[in-house]
Amino acid sequence: MNEKPEKFIDENGLRLDGRKIDQIRDIKIEIGILNRADGSCYLEFGNNKIMAAVYGPREVHPRHQQKATKAIVRYKYNMASFSVEDRKRPGPDRRSIEVSKVSREAFEKEIFTELYPKSAIDIFIEILQADAGTRTAAINAASLALADAGIPMRGLISSCAVGKVDDTLILDLNKDEDNYGQADMPIAMSTDGKITLLQMDGHLTQEEFKKGLEMAQQGCREIYELQRKALIDHYNNTQKEIIQDAPVESVKDISTESATEEDPIEDPVISDDVPDNGNTVNDDEIKEDIPDEKEEVILDEDEDNPAIVSDETEDDTLE
Ligand code: UDP
Repeated sequence: MNEKPEKFIDENGLRLDGRKIDQIRDIKIEIGILNRADGSCYLEFGNNKIMAAVYGPREVHPRHQQKATKAIVRYKYNMASFSVEDRKRPGPDRRSIEVSKVSREAFEKEIFTELYPKSAIDIFIEILQADAGTRTAAINAASLALADAGIPMRGLISSCAVGKVDDTLILDLNKDEDNYGQADMPIAMSTDGKITLLQMDGHLTQEEFKKGLEMAQQGCREIYELQRKALIDHYNNTQKEIIQDAPVESVKDISTESATEEDPIEDPVISDDVPDNGNTVNDDEIKEDIPDEKEEVILDEDEDNPAIVSDETEDDTLE
């Protein structure tokens, strides 16, 4: 573990990693990278590296967990042994059970669970590399994996933390700021501004709490814009791939789907005036190249079943 820094904020108002006090870490997003999952997302948030996979809606096992009127949401947060400085003991612990619970609750109200009674929506989180703020980064990734799986939601969930170091509020704490800071308050927010997760370690005054909440909400709005852009880019690229891979007929089908009465898409004009580039073959030449199948096929002499034909030739027949 690093030593406690003497100062977290320098005379220019910059933090140890060069960020301003209200600046989030860089975010990198890749959507739909796991073939076996219904939806997936790999997300880097500063030095955090997170994989999220979503399965469902699917059958509930064990069955006694199923709900007659809605889908259940399950969230499993797991930290890989190699994700932290000191090896983490594999398997669930108190912390991962707590993170899983609060993160599930951050999503439950945002998903239209009533559309899928007796089914389960499973969210799996693997922390591959941790550097503080893993629960918030994981929520951002899970939100995109849910969208990738096509799970109907009221909106996306975006998440980041606000904290306090050197008696100053800072947005999105890194590892040293989290370990040695005076407070850490992760929040998650829906697209329409509802807070769906709020936790706090340490101490903030009422004024600091209000100001910190505003900073975190602003951070979530920035993250939402990045999530939205990543989804749009992903679906634009997927659409292009579908069109490139599809046979010509279905490409025409896709392109005419969006036609309306006021704005019909016209059929392409196919002209007979194809310019002769020297490779043109006329119909008679094509006919000559086609072998006369009747010569190769001789009728079976079975009188009971004259419809059966045999493709044995005299040469192939073993006497
Ligand atoms: N951490 C660790 N070992 C653990 C749990 C956490 O080294 O078993 C580190 C990890 O880098 C994590 C940070 O402590 O990101 C802060 O953990 P916290 O419980 O505050 O959750 P987070 O901020 O990651 O949501």
